[in-house]
Amino acid sequence: MTAFWTSPDWDAHERVELVHDRASGLTAIIALHSTHLGPGAGGTRFWHYADPADAMKDALRLSRGMSYKNAMAGLPMGGGKAVVLLDDSRRKTPAMLDAFGKAVEALGGRYVTAEDVGASEADMVAISRHTAHVCGLPVEQGQAGGDPGPYTALGIFEGIKAAVEFKLRRADMDGVHVALQGCGSVGGGVARLLAAAGARLTLADIDHARAQALATEIGASAVGAGEIMRVKCDVFSPNALGAILDARGIVGLDCAIVAGGANNQLATPADGKALAARGILYAPDYVINAGGIINVSLEYLARRDGKPCSAAQVIEQIGGIPERLRRIWEESAITGLGSDLVADRMAQILIGRG
Ligand code: NAD
Repeated sequence: MTAFWTSPDWDAHERVELVHDRASGLTAIIALHSTHLGPGAGGTRFWHYADPADAMKDALRLSRGMSYKNAMAGLPMGGGKAVVLLDDSRRKTPAMLDAFGKAVEALGGRYVTAEDVGASEADMVAISRHTAHVCGLPVEQGQAGGDPGPYTALGIFEGIKAAVEFKLRRADMDGVHVALQGCGSVGGGVARLLAAAGARLTLADIDHARAQALATEIGASAVGAGEIMRVKCDVFSPNALGAILDARGIVGLDCAIVAGGANNQLATPADGKALAARGILYAPDYVINAGGIINVSLEYLARRDGKPCSAAQVIEQIGGIPERLRRIWEESAITGLGSDLVADRMAQILIGRG
């Protein structure tokens, strides 16, 4: 038990709820890292964990990440995250969603949920039958809310342009070579925006046909998933999995900038240092990929406060991402600290833990 309290993952969470509902079989963890700036907001992950200890680790690390992400996005939201532990059949039932909605409601608005891995918009609709503290619900065209992917992609695109200007002193993307990993909802959106802006793209996905189809659509080239981190380029943009920037991966990089949407890209804090030591400009993931949470948080606040919020207002707030990144890079240049550390320190101050 002592080990738990002293674990870096614990990081003085305000509250951690262990939920079990015998009738539906729901087992879940709701972790609230900080409500200093507002209700803890972060999605619910539905996943099968071979070891329940991994579920706790995931919940704690992800909810702290949401505190930092929401604070740096300028949102009046704290950080929280939920994980629902599925059994090895990975079955998610309507009764489990009902029980989960009631568990969120029991927290009285301290936690606001949304989609994460394994969750759909339809799941959020089911949860909303029991609580108003849910976002990522269907919205009318032109209103804040709906699929966060395109908004996340937009923020990353703006962040990449800012990085190119900061590091390469280039005001446009014409001919800038981006090697992009992961061609799904986020990566596909980033690739299309970059191609339209004149960038040269090399794409990869473990689903090679997916990378190839996107390459054909936007006039890019595709390489194998194992090669993308060694492609000589200006920008490496990770939009697939976390923890890809480890000692081995970093040594192979041949780029000036790493900027992409995958969560938790750095395998360890030492890897942020290693990137900085190689002179590679790093865009902290939770700063550059905040477009989606900006979208669903504004959707939630609009519904809660009865003040409509348009998609145009979401886009305007996403426009703040490049400026936040520039402040981080400038401070990193002055202090010599890696941009990941600088961002963490800024976020900690914003949530009253500086
Ligand atoms: P997605 O499932 O739509 O796409 C992920 C893509 O990555 C898939 O095409 C998959 O085949 C590919 N992939 C998986 N492993 C790979 C590998 N080793 N090499 C190359 N490709 C690989 O998911 P998404 O919504 O696009 O999310 C991508 C990343 O962005 C995730 O890390 C996610 O946590 C993060 N993120 C997403 C959002 C959002 O709004 N969807 C917001 C913030 C962060």
